Amino acid sequence: MKNKSPLAPSPLLGTGSFLFLDRDGVINQELPGDYVKTVGEFIFTPQATEAIAILTSLFDRIFVVTNQRGIGRGVMSQADVDNVHQYMLAEIEKAGGQIDRIYICPAISPTCVNRKPNTGMAFRAQADFPEIDFRRSVMVGNSLSDIQFGNKLGMYTVLVGDKYEKEHKIYEQIDAFCENLYKFADNLQHNVKPI
Ligand SMILES: [Mg+2]
Repeated sequence: MKNKSPLAPSPLLGTGSFLFLDRDGVINQELPGDYVKTVGEFIFTPQATEAIAILTSLFDRIFVVTNQRGIGRGVMSQADVDNVHQYMLAEIEKAGGQIDRIYICPAISPTCVNRKPNTGMAFRAQADFPEIDFRRSVMVGNSLSDIQFGNKLGMYTVLVGDKYEKEHKIYEQIDAFCENLYKFADNLQHNVKPI
């Protein structure tokens, strides 16, 4: 861990705190070796919609920042992804949650400013919502690129999922680890240190 401090209610929660969520592997299950192209392929992680409802009550705003290289590769279209997101947002809203905006990077090239771990999508969010303070923001992701994205911006970084072995260097770069998004939300609402 970068530090051993608990995920305290302040300054990370309350007025003026923001949450950035990766999508695949956080909100929905990753499809190994494939892209989520249809609603049928979009499977929420356990209690993800409930988690987002909790998080909606804890953060000022919630954003999704997602690399979708399958668009750039022509495996799926922007309309396919929009359709999946329409379903995702409807299910989240049904559960009482709210995503303020979704930012997508369709680029293939790792040099694209918007492709995580590059930070372009965060600055697009800040252009749309100028009140965003990255130092009062939390990034939740399941990949090293998400953690690097958050760290570059000075965010509190939370790793979820089981992609990395316990010895992996990623654990030196995160602020907290949670099994999944629901565990993160549940720990946070009960003011429990996530790890
Ligand atoms: Mg992911």
